[in-house]
Amino acid sequence: MTLMKSARSSQTPEIEEVAKKEGIDTERLRRLVSKGRVVIPQNPRHSPKPVGIGEDLSIKVNANLGSSPDHVDLEEELEKAKVSIEYGSDTIMDLSTGGDIDEIRRAILKETDVPLGTVPIYQAGLLAAKKGSLVDMSEDEMFNGIEKHAKDGVDFMTVHCGVTMEGARLIRDSGRKVGVVSRGGSWLVSWILHNGMENPLYSNFDYLLEMAKEHEFAISLGDGLRPGCIADATDAPQLQELIVLGELVKRAREADVQTMVEGPGHVPLNQIEANVRIEKTVCDGAPFYVLGPLPTDIAAGFDHLAGAIGGALAGYYGADFLCYMTPAEHISLPTVEDVKQGVIGTKIAAHVADLARGRGWEIDMKMAKARKSLDWDEMFKYVLNPEMAKEKRKKMKPKLEDTCSMCGDVCAIKLANELVK
Ligand code: SF4
Repeated sequence: MTLMKSARSSQTPEIEEVAKKEGIDTERLRRLVSKGRVVIPQNPRHSPKPVGIGEDLSIKVNANLGSSPDHVDLEEELEKAKVSIEYGSDTIMDLSTGGDIDEIRRAILKETDVPLGTVPIYQAGLLAAKKGSLVDMSEDEMFNGIEKHAKDGVDFMTVHCGVTMEGARLIRDSGRKVGVVSRGGSWLVSWILHNGMENPLYSNFDYLLEMAKEHEFAISLGDGLRPGCIADATDAPQLQELIVLGELVKRAREADVQTMVEGPGHVPLNQIEANVRIEKTVCDGAPFYVLGPLPTDIAAGFDHLAGAIGGALAGYYGADFLCYMTPAEHISLPTVEDVKQGVIGTKIAAHVADLARGRGWEIDMKMAKARKSLDWDEMFKYVLNPEMAKEKRKKMKPKLEDTCSMCGDVCAIKLANELVK
């Protein structure tokens, strides 16, 4: 029985654990899970620590890892997984497209205890490309790939079920500036236009639901037609796909399958609120998992900063799950250091949004108290990267131990503490 089905009639240990961690009433959380407003992705073959994503919960962060055809290093991917979790990533996704993809995925599953997501169509597409062409990928290859990942224990999977013939036609005729930037999306648009057939992940969605029920993985409905530049944001192909995803969320819920919805991508700041509100309306409050969003196209090298700005606003307006950006976004495969920077930046965005939504104030209150007391050891307990903060302080030592080298003996806090009692 799936977690969603169990939640309709009774409490489960996963719900109780998440409720305790989030400080939310257990009964309220059970109702949210049973309605599909919160998902707890957990494949019994992996059994990660339960993580709740959705309404009334703290905003979660995902880090993407994985090899590429140009760079394969299993140890490096495992190190990225370790660093992501160390700096607070709630989930990780293995997006490997190079080397022995099965080996990488299985090693990450073995070494990690947070929910793991994948995009199985990458592997199916690469197999088809090896034999001839991506557009020759068979329906069986698509579904067999999903089943293989499910049997390995993958907790949630991105499946681009909302890319349809109608969406592919819109893309062809829409005059988009940057076409399709999702790998899965571009492969499926090419497949549909080449074969003149409907996307099997859409036409056979019920089969996917059967698999998700049998193996108990959550579905993350991918946004294969997400905009790849701010000028393409909120356009007809993006919205047409979202409407399809709304219908699929309804069908998944009827089948007791936990489902999230993925969102953009490149979106100007003034359209982020609308994007969140439209998803929440069209998909009936399904957890919204956004990539960034990036409110500018020109931040390559600093996309973790641009993504954090967009992510904070999206989170404030109701997005539930932020996929990180790293400084390598749009440039190269991220290094371990890029992954660390990406996770920290996205954790800041999630926390900023949580604060604005009335959550997580305790830690900021403790920091405020430590700042007023000029208690540096205490302050370092609350920062996201204590080693870096300590190193900076050590590098430019203050003359007066309780101040810092920014203002030295005219430290505003010290003066105020002495003069304003
Ligand atoms: S020296 Fe200046 S920057 Fe440093 S703690 Fe005091 S007021 Fe803040």
